[in-house]
This record gives sequence, C-alpha cells and structure tokens, in this order.
Amino acid sequence: MNAPMFAADRLHGDVGHQVRLPTTRMLIGGDWEEAADGRSIDVEDPATGQIFASVPAGTAEDVDRAVKRARAAFESATWSRMRPLDRGRIIETIARKIEENAQELALLESYDNGKAVHHALAVDVPAAVDIFRYMAGWTSKIHGQVNPISGDGRQYHSYSVREPIGVVGQIVPWNYPLAMAAWKIASALAAGCTIVLKPSEVTPLTALRLAELALEAGLPEGVLNIVTGYGHEAGQALVEHPGIDKIAFTGSTRVGKQIVQTAARDLKRVTLELGGKSPSLIFADADLEKASLGAALAIFFNSGQVCLAASRLYVERSVFDRVVDGVAQAAKQFKLGHGRDPDTMLGPLVSRTQQGRVLDYIEQGRASGAELVTGGKAGEGTGYFVEPTIFANPSADASIVREEIFGPVLVATPFDDVEEVIRTANDTRYGLAANIWTRDLSRAHLTARKLQAGTVWINTHGMNDPSAPFGGVKESGWGREVGEEGVLHYTETKTVTALLAD
Ligand code: NAP
Ligand code: MG
Repeated sequence: MNAPMFAADRLHGDVGHQVRLPTTRMLIGGDWEEAADGRSIDVEDPATGQIFASVPAGTAEDVDRAVKRARAAFESATWSRMRPLDRGRIIETIARKIEENAQELALLESYDNGKAVHHALAVDVPAAVDIFRYMAGWTSKIHGQVNPISGDGRQYHSYSVREPIGVVGQIVPWNYPLAMAAWKIASALAAGCTIVLKPSEVTPLTALRLAELALEAGLPEGVLNIVTGYGHEAGQALVEHPGIDKIAFTGSTRVGKQIVQTAARDLKRVTLELGGKSPSLIFADADLEKASLGAALAIFFNSGQVCLAASRLYVERSVFDRVVDGVAQAAKQFKLGHGRDPDTMLGPLVSRTQQGRVLDYIEQGRASGAELVTGGKAGEGTGYFVEPTIFANPSADASIVREEIFGPVLVATPFDDVEEVIRTANDTRYGLAANIWTRDLSRAHLTARKLQAGTVWINTHGMNDPSAPFGGVKESGWGREVGEEGVLHYTETKTVTALLAD
C-alpha cells in the first residue's frame, strides 16, 4: 500500500461535522492508483451541491490491471485455499473494523449520498457489519454431497464439491453504497472468490474506506480491488472482460438487461438485483394506524431511493380515505433536510439528475389526471430535495403506476376483493417485494403465496437480514443475494466420480 490513511489534509466538512476522507484513489492489488489517463470524477454533497472530493475515472486499462491482480490472487490460492476458519476470522475482523468506524462511515455516507447520518448509523452501517459477521461463518460450512449413483451396477464413489467461481466483477448502486458493497464483497469472500468492485460514480467513497478496512483486517492484497469510474466505461469494461467469471450487479433493469447481453458473449455467470414497483396491500381489518405509518415508511424511507420501496398502495375501499389520509399525515411529518441535521428524516435525492427524473414523473402524474394528495414539488434549499408525494386514483396505465421512479412518489388505489388486488398487484413487469397488512392469518399467508415477489412482508416492510435470501422474480432480477443461496451463487459445482471396483 502506498497511500497514507486519513491524511490530515483530507478533512472536509461543515463546521462541527468534519468528515475524514478515505484514500481517494483506486485499489488495484495492494496499490492505490490514479486512472491510467489521469481523469477524475468530482464527488458532490447532494445536500449542498458542493464538490468535496474526487476519485479516478477508471478506464478499460485500469479494469484490466485490476482483473489481472484479482486473477493472480485467485490463482495463488492464498485466499481460496486458506484454512476456512482463518478466512472466516479475516471476514469477521472486517465486521469488527466497520463497527469500530461506524460513526465515521455513517458521516461519509451522508456526505456522499445525502442520507441522514442517524439513518446510516441505524441501517446502512449495521447491515454492513451483520453481513460480514454472518458470512464469516459460511467459510467453514460450504458442504458438498455424496451422490448415490446407480451407474452400470459396478461400485463407484461419486461426490460433488462447491468450488469458488473465480474472479468476480461486482457493480453496486448509489442508494445504499456501503451496505450493497458489503453484501456483495462478504458473500464472494466467504466462497473464496477474488473481486473487482465498481461503486457508483456518484457515491464511491464508502467502498474505498471499506477496502482500507479490509486490508487492515488482513485481507491479502489483490483479493479485493476497487475500480472507481463511470458505468458506461469502467462498468462496461468489467462486464466485457474475459478474465471475469461472474458479474453480480445491483441497479436498474435497463442496465441489467445490457449486462446480460454483453455477458452472453462468453457466458459469464450473472446475478442481478434490479428495480421494483412493489405493492403495499392494506386490508380493512388491519391495525390501520400501524399500516398507514408502515406504508409511508415503505415508500418514503431513504427518500424512496430503495429497490424494495413499496411505491404502489392498494387499500380496501371501505378504509381507503382514512388510510391515504394517514399516510399523507405521516409524509407531512417527515422532515426534509440536510443529512447532518439530527431532525432530518428525508435527505435530498442523490443527484440533480435523479431529482430531475423524479420531478418529471410527478409532472407526468399530474398530466395523467391522478389526484395529487400531498407533495408534488422540489423541496426548499439548495440540495436535491423532493417532497414526499402521493397520488390517488391514478389510471392503471399511467407511467407513475407502471415505472420505477426511485424517489418519494406513491400511487394509491382502492380495491374491493382479495382476488382483484392480487391480480392488480401482480400486473407489473417487476417482482421484487410486497407487503400485506391484515389481522387475518390465513388471508395473509394465502395472499403471500399468490404474490409474484422475491420477498413478501406481513404487517411489516423492509426487514432484511443476512440469513434471508433477497432478490426478485420477473424483471426484478436473477438469483438471490445473501443467505446460503447468496454464497452458493459464488460457487460452481464439480462432480467427481471414481470407479472403485468392477
Ligand atoms: P444504473 O445506471 O443501473 O446504475 C447502477 C450501477 O451500474 C452503477 O454503479 C452504475 O455506474 C453502473 N452502470 C451504469 N451503466 C453501466 C453499464 N453500461 N455497464 C456496467 N455498469 C453500468 O442506475 P442509475 O442510472 O444510477 O439509476 C437509474 C435508475 O435505476 C433509478 O432511477 C432506479 O430506477 C434504478 N436503480 C435501482 C437500484 C436498485 O437498487 N435496484 C439502484 C440504483 C438505481 P455509474 O453510477 O457510475 O454510472
Ligand atoms: Mg455524491
């Protein structure tokens, strides 16, 4: 490593909120490097529009160097064949290092993404700690199996083992930059893979800090490489690179489809965690106060920039007005503000581009004739704020009903019976998540069976855990992240069959 950590001249921030920047270079092998052509990308605080750091704009050449270092690390087998318990100890040490640096990581995430520090501290950082801690245990639990083959009647011994898939390219988005990097890195490390990760160009900093912590924890050089850069350059180069065995991607369905097409050239393995248009279903017998607040949080938390955001609300007609009013009241109480203000509930959107995209959808919503219940415009101040917005009774084919907005915009529609609401809830190209609010146990579970979604929550929303596989059906993705399935997606199965006796 050739860079000082936390150099004193890298302090930045508002009065009272100085944030220490990580090394703002790419990690290739054990070296912190600039881009081959020297270009960089400015990193902006979305609450103020102020540029406070810059990172290299990695090129195809940089990706190539990173892949070669990851390949060399994989082939040296210092990681993949390290005693599983020793590998687990290093992964567990990364968890501890994240924990020890929680405050600083949360503040960095707030500057980079805009979210409230207290949310990053309550959600993002613990999610990162938990996944490393959970995955540390998997290193010694990736079992194979013995195959009871019938064969041709002679005696055989046949077994299958799970081997690490090799060098993996990981591309993560800007909404939960640290947590999403942690989900991907921890799972691949547990399986024994080596990694080239590309964070989003708008939120590269916590992935770099995480890489510093991983090296401090004893991760061998070359096992984890971070290439910062643009999606269409560094991201694309990673997907095209023949030295990559698997791509794990979280982001938009549009880019996910492009990745599949590119990966088809050499049949790279691909897992995808994509967008959603998840429904909240509220039945009249539910605890309506809890359901209203739950539905409000399910869409507005993280300012709606959540893949599993429940952006479509379906409420049984007899309680429709009451619930929509309850959700609107909650929305009005969510204070918009700077991520470093302890009273802030909703930070700005991540970028001017994202703010523009969301405001454009709101205009389309108005134009479609949907009834605006609350919100509907940019928030005050210089940051990229958007008010929590609710439309009622939209037409079923309006863009605000059909497309992922990835912002604080909810559409609310009444329903009359359970079969109807299941049909409407499933009438989407997405299938990431859903939630159901009712006190009727059998209806809850029967409805959960019929909803097309990777995750269904009952009387809650958004409870993710390292032990619970997460991912989508339909155009919300391929494969699952975390849990046992998440680790196994970083392995290939090899069957070995020996003839023992004629
Ligand atoms: P995006 O383009 O899909 O970005 C996600 C990641 O993919 C980023 O790291 C991005 O890098 C990278 N990327 C972009 N183009 C690529 C390419 N051709 N090849 C390889 N990697 C590429 O998403 P976005 O434009 O930031 O956001 C657009 C919409 O995507 C949002 O409004 C939302 O609907 C959806 N989205 C979903 C999730 C989710 O969690 N499912 C997360 C983010 C966004 P750069 O950021 O550096 O371009
Ligand atoms: Mg930023």
